[in-house]
Amino acid sequence: MKKEYKDAWSTYTEEDKELLFAYGERYRKFISDNKTERECVVDCIKIAREHGYKDLSEYTELKAGDKVYANYGNKSLLMFCIGTQDITSGMNLLGAHLDSPRLDLKPNPLYEDSNLALFKTHYYGGVKKYQWVTLPLAIHGVVAKTDGSVVDVVIGESMDDPVVGISDLLIHLSAEQMSKKLSEAIKGEDLNVCVGSLPIENCEDDEKHKVKANVLKILNAKYGIVEEDLVSAELQIVPAGEARNYGLDNSMILGYGHDDRVCSYASFEAQLEVVNPTRTTGCILVDKEETGSYGASGMHSRFFENTVAEVINLTQPYSDLKLRRTLANSKMLSSDVTAAHDPNHPSVLEKNNAAHFGKGVVFMKYTGSRGKSGSSEASAEYVAYLRKIMDDNNVTWQTCELGRIDLGGGGTIAYILAQYAMDVIDCGVPVHSMHAPWEIVSKVDLYEMRKAYIAFLKNA
Ligand code: MN
Ligand code: MN
Repeated sequence: MKKEYKDAWSTYTEEDKELLFAYGERYRKFISDNKTERECVVDCIKIAREHGYKDLSEYTELKAGDKVYANYGNKSLLMFCIGTQDITSGMNLLGAHLDSPRLDLKPNPLYEDSNLALFKTHYYGGVKKYQWVTLPLAIHGVVAKTDGSVVDVVIGESMDDPVVGISDLLIHLSAEQMSKKLSEAIKGEDLNVCVGSLPIENCEDDEKHKVKANVLKILNAKYGIVEEDLVSAELQIVPAGEARNYGLDNSMILGYGHDDRVCSYASFEAQLEVVNPTRTTGCILVDKEETGSYGASGMHSRFFENTVAEVINLTQPYSDLKLRRTLANSKMLSSDVTAAHDPNHPSVLEKNNAAHFGKGVVFMKYTGSRGKSGSSEASAEYVAYLRKIMDDNNVTWQTCELGRIDLGGGGTIAYILAQYAMDVIDCGVPVHSMHAPWEIVSKVDLYEMRKAYIAFLKNA
């Protein structure tokens, strides 16, 4: 029989409500300030150091209570707090991803057309392209120069800054466009970002692309970069502006990058909060999930395994067998967002197995699509183990499937960690408009997720 999931809100004390809104505000600020995986990692390290975390290279040995992090190129971050129990008996791990769908600049992005300067982009992750036009957009990222320096770029967040954007066709002349399928109305190569319209002044008469030249002059004045430097850059086009409280009751947050910074931030705060644990705790914040977890900063990279080996080596004499045992004996909440039931689009979820706003953190026994394909399904025993932790700690939780059978589906990083033979389950919060420039989450679910992660980390 289906459990009737309760509304968490009705169980709250005044203190709970205060803590809930305070947490919502901390998270809202985090995603407003940090819109790329690099910005997230840099900010997390700064906060972690204030909480006593030190870089792996700063330790010559690790003992119970020590807090250590490892940074992969400012793109992925691992944090551990050493437990009193031998690490080979396993760790309690939280994992989430820091990358979010966006538009990346192509290696040769800048061109001029009809007296306008534009950037060519290549979308990153799954996006509905029509959602990215006629929005104020910002540019975030880095430009690496041949002298070894790396320049941070943020344009479009301060109210004194200009924004950029992608135009759409006026409705008056859209008869042809409006008769196309949604997936074809705006194509990948149509996502060109307009960045200027004025010609450069005081230049040689034979300068052909004067508007483009002017944009390069502005970039050079502000960042000291030249056109060729854009080849060794990672510049991302993201929605401009802060995340906002959503709903007349301020109960939700509209923001860019909830997928999956909402779970990353909860995992990060839980990792900071649990000190002197019995089992070693760990927090895995990775890049590249939206494109398949490939690459050195993605979950498929050996970075995680190598770092665990280094951590073991600093706690005791190292062996390969100890590494394998540590990983196999670990337990993990692999957290990522899922689809929330949406009254505007009720048909895509099966009602007995749909997640709802306000009903707490979500556990998904499996993800995948079409016959659970690609899923690392958690065992019944592990689900029971988690149910007990949640119930013992008054965490409001729910369960769901990602959508009706045979409609679509998705995966996370869970299956990659499951390869070590550790217990892993997908866990997270429901989202409206997932992968849209502005996504929506419920503060109640955020609060319950944070509680769930703390309870999980503390469990011995
Ligand atoms: Mn995700
Ligand atoms: Mn996603």
